[in-house]
Amino acid sequence: MSIIAERLSAIKPSPTIAVTTKANEMKAAGRDVIGLGAGEPDFDTPEHICAAATEAMTKGETRYTPVGGTVALRKAIAAKLKRENGLEYSLNEITVGCGGKQTIYNAMMATVEPGVEVIIPAPYWVSYPDITLLCGGTPVFVPCAAENGFKLQPRDLERAITYRTRWVILNSPSNPTGAAYTAEELAALARVILAHPHVWVMTDDMYEHLVYDGFKFSTIAQVEPRLKDRTLTLNGVSKAFSMTGWRVGYAAGPAELISAMNTLQSQSTTHTSSVSQAAAVAALNGPLDFLAERNALFQERRDLVVARINDCPGLSVSKPEGAFYVYVSCAGVIGKTLPNGKLLETDADFVTELLEAEGVAAVQGEAFGLSPYFRISYATATPVLEEACTRIKRFCESLK
Ligand code: PLP
Repeated sequence: MSIIAERLSAIKPSPTIAVTTKANEMKAAGRDVIGLGAGEPDFDTPEHICAAATEAMTKGETRYTPVGGTVALRKAIAAKLKRENGLEYSLNEITVGCGGKQTIYNAMMATVEPGVEVIIPAPYWVSYPDITLLCGGTPVFVPCAAENGFKLQPRDLERAITYRTRWVILNSPSNPTGAAYTAEELAALARVILAHPHVWVMTDDMYEHLVYDGFKFSTIAQVEPRLKDRTLTLNGVSKAFSMTGWRVGYAAGPAELISAMNTLQSQSTTHTSSVSQAAAVAALNGPLDFLAERNALFQERRDLVVARINDCPGLSVSKPEGAFYVYVSCAGVIGKTLPNGKLLETDADFVTELLEAEGVAAVQGEAFGLSPYFRISYATATPVLEEACTRIKRFCESLK
């Protein structure tokens, strides 16, 4: 008999982490591999943030902190939410976890149980369904077509809601598509949710600061204040501040929910590192001007990748509003064969053979719940991206 608990059978390792691990293993074995799988900025954490961490260590801020985060950090989060999103939260309505992922995990563990449905627009970030399943809940997927910019349509949301629905998850800008909702689009979704008082919204705003072409970011509790008492607004410092390894994410919402999340966290990680929390205070209270330069570079890379991918036979992609991903349709290569006669039947076949033939690692759309697509992360140096696109084109041209 296995020692592993039955609940683990419902979930799988993160497919995006799996692709990155495989690419790194191939590299270590001497293969020339370009990894476009990781959801991580290629920039360093800004210096003033690292300096704040060093200072915290030197000053002895190395002990346990309150479970929900230091007062200084929760104050910085409250100030950020007020300043940038027009949202007012008191300190007992804010919690900090070990990255956005643990914060979402805590929220789900605190609220999802057998019989509960969680509406997840697809394509989705890979962890939403698995965390739902781990909690014994039922993910309800709502396909969001490319024709609608991969965004949830109000009529589809209305159709997906049942008396069992507890959460609707929104993620804007999105991983994996980069799609972002305008204030009007959020208002239309809010109208549907308002009519169903038992439904709560979990909005994952992790990519808030990564928007291009002057796009204006909005979040649902700001657009529809009547939803604020059933909205959990999630965010973190990982992506905008290039702080993936520091592990700081946060959530703001009704005190009862935040308190339950803290109870859960008090029996697991207790809190994220005290030094990381000090760094996050500097990130949130500090200047954001470094973002403009970084975003200009991301935008350039997005435009480069979109143009070069649309030049590959059988592939197509449109320009998303934000994040650092593009979600490429590979419908035009499914059914084609490799020079060795192998048939490409799925997007998973496409990424596997692309990695084998050309050493380019991307993630199959199957992992994000909408096929046949694959995700490219363009958070990689421009010359490397250029080379990756050359290889992808050569691979597509080799198909018959
Ligand atoms: N939410 C989305 C949409 C993400 O893409 C990620 C990371 O990839 C996270 C949350 C988790 O971020 P963190 O690294 O802070 O746990």
